[in-house]
Amino acid sequence: MDIRNRGVVVKFMSNALIVEDINTKERIRCVLRGRFRLTDLKPVVGDIVEYVRVHDIGVVESILKRKNELPKPKIANVDQVVCVYTLRRPEVPLLVLDKLLVLVEEANLNALIVLNKIDLLTEEDEQRKRLFLETYSKLYPVVMTSAKTKHGIDQLVEHFKDKTSVFAGPSGVGKSSLLNVICPGANLKTQEVSEKLERGRHTTTAAELLHLPFGGLVADTPGFSLIEVDHIRADKLKYYFKEIREHGNCLFKDCNHIDEPGCKIKELVEEGVIARSRYENYLEIYKEVSEK
Ligand code: GDP
Repeated sequence: MDIRNRGVVVKFMSNALIVEDINTKERIRCVLRGRFRLTDLKPVVGDIVEYVRVHDIGVVESILKRKNELPKPKIANVDQVVCVYTLRRPEVPLLVLDKLLVLVEEANLNALIVLNKIDLLTEEDEQRKRLFLETYSKLYPVVMTSAKTKHGIDQLVEHFKDKTSVFAGPSGVGKSSLLNVICPGANLKTQEVSEKLERGRHTTTAAELLHLPFGGLVADTPGFSLIEVDHIRADKLKYYFKEIREHGNCLFKDCNHIDEPGCKIKELVEEGVIARSRYENYLEIYKEVSEK
């Protein structure tokens, strides 16, 4: 009987897919068993597949059930979205980070927040940095890094170990630089380049999962490159703000935490349990998605 091995699909190449064996980490060129032609279920990058060896190639027999699936780039079984943010050069509004976190929550994925370029922060920024940490470390793991001085990189590496990660965040915050630091030899394809390729060739740019030297995989293309929340229904937004979702219990069961009486969330903002900036951005996004 054929021995079924398990591996992760890390890349697509013309007619083949490259599978990294889960145990040996060897990368094997595979083809799909003919019956895949009869189904709509096709493997995507990140899928765990069962394959058999036939001489020096592999034949993919089946796809294991996906834990989750990121729509763009199409990657399955993502363990975390690494949301990179900066307070300086560029000074990114918190609204952008909160929108990104909404998208991560909507996709039911875990977020890791990276505050990069901390080498650029001065004493004047102390207060903003403290507030940032106070607000977000209650909600998600936060790591402060500098791709330039390598500050915090050891800590960052710990978060990437043995996981499948995808970077996200606005342009210029240092996603490619961080990837190059943790995965020497990698070259994160920038959003701009992928979009150009996509338009030029009318193909979708598939992501590739790169092997991390200390264990784990990371996508070479950022996810959520368009931090766009227009498609979200206003009455669903409350589920995508972690602290709002977790603190419900208002007078009205379907309270949207805007101006309803007996709103617990508004009380918690007054008490300082929920960060005011987060609540204000909730209102801002709510308004934005209600008006569309
Ligand atoms: P991306 O668009 O998010 O991939 O950002 P890049 O990695 O291309 O970085 C944008 C610019 O910021 C480049 O000029 C980098 O050299 C610079 N940069 C990245 N990380 C840091 C950092 O930690 N500190 C400083 N001072 N500059 C950085």
